[in-house]
Amino acid sequence: MDFRLGERSELFRKEVTEFLDEVLTPEVLERCHRTGVNHDPAFSQAVREKGWLALGWPVEHGGQGRDPIEVLAYSEETQRRNAPVYGISTTMMVASVINQVGTEAQKAEILPRAFRADVVIALGFTEPENGSDAAAAATRAVRDGAGWRITGSKMFTTNAHIADYVFMLARTDPDVPKHQGLTTFLLPLDQEGVEVNAVHTISGERTNVTFYNDVYVDDAWRIGEVNGGWRVMSVAFASEHSASFSGEQARLLDAFTAWARTTTREDGAAKTADSAVAERMGRTVTELEVSRLLARRGAWYKATGARELHSRGPMSKLFSTERLQTQADATLQLIGPDALRAWGDPTTLEGGTIEHMVRHAKGTTIYAGTSEIQRNIIAQHALGLPRG
Ligand SMILES: Cc1cc2nc3c(=O)[nH]c(=O)nc-3n(C[C@H](O)[C@H](O)[C@H](O)COP(=O)(O)OP(=O)(O)OC[C@H]3O[C@@H](n4cnc5c(N)ncnc54)[C@H](O)[C@@H]3O)c2cc1C
Repeated sequence: MDFRLGERSELFRKEVTEFLDEVLTPEVLERCHRTGVNHDPAFSQAVREKGWLALGWPVEHGGQGRDPIEVLAYSEETQRRNAPVYGISTTMMVASVINQVGTEAQKAEILPRAFRADVVIALGFTEPENGSDAAAAATRAVRDGAGWRITGSKMFTTNAHIADYVFMLARTDPDVPKHQGLTTFLLPLDQEGVEVNAVHTISGERTNVTFYNDVYVDDAWRIGEVNGGWRVMSVAFASEHSASFSGEQARLLDAFTAWARTTTREDGAAKTADSAVAERMGRTVTELEVSRLLARRGAWYKATGARELHSRGPMSKLFSTERLQTQADATLQLIGPDALRAWGDPTTLEGGTIEHMVRHAKGTTIYAGTSEIQRNIIAQHALGLPRG
């Protein structure tokens, strides 16, 4: 048994870190911090030039055919550096869905633009009254001639204010069991009846609430079968099973370590000599190692197509995000008020990373499936318990 990631992925990781050193300029990071938007057109173009928009896609579909272990190395390093990849990831996720279940016309319209990084697609699943239970979507799509009329609202439609389309789940038949009456659409956002309002979150991320008032969408923008939306969603979420936030843990630990090495106590010794600091570091680095192993095992299950991915993938997301929250809170408590000085303050510690992580970590146990939902899935798939 070999727990290492292999030479190929480690070489690729090195290439990714060198790329990030070059393109994550202070200007790019400043823009992302100031706006709370985890998308940057200049950064996306640089990723496109490397051919990394579709790392894991098969070569014959325009990707690089990299295995899940290499894709994991990329996501660990981009997370570690807080690179603005969210817009790319939602866009490429929807592009992948279209590639698998879309019409030839949809592929011709969307895929070349996705590969040029000149289209942004937001996700419109969550609603004000339905989040974890996305299948309870109440936004209606009603037939109107050659198209549909959409009416309803979506909550947390991140990037909708800069996106060209929203990939939306809408109810097309209210009279059948909830999973059977849903259809997915790719709705152009720049049109009458669409309203996008900012929602600023504690984590600093700007997201949106979006309203759709009798918005017309041609049937050509329906993705998949009428009332087949839940099957399309399972294609969309297939890649979400082994999400990990180990890269975020590494970012926090990098900042904590840098602080401890460069800050001195009253006796002149470095903070690393403090037993409380050393104890916290030992704990954090151990938990980071467990997160990395869970993520790597998830990637390995993915590469081998093993069924265990359904239970082990959620363990990776659950463990890495819950530990991240505890670590951020504990680090703040240990350093004290100095760590509360935020990004932008000239006296801030480590670029405000610790203060930012305390806030940012809160959202990680909510999006991509809350901790409670992950625990239910684990109980169901790992122990064979009934659906929670
Ligand atoms: C910063 C941010 C960005 C986001 N971006 C997007 C986006 O781009 N697109 C998008 O569609 N969504 C997005 N989301 C939404 C996110 O996916 C939802 O917030 C999440 O799915 C939870 O849904 P909810 O907020 O409606 O909470 P609810 O589902 O109402 O849950 C409330 C509480 O009840 C618990 N709960 C719910 N059901 C169960 C159950 N069956 N068993 C046990 N406990 C349960 C939950 O765990 C939670 O603690 C984003 C959220 C945030 C915070």
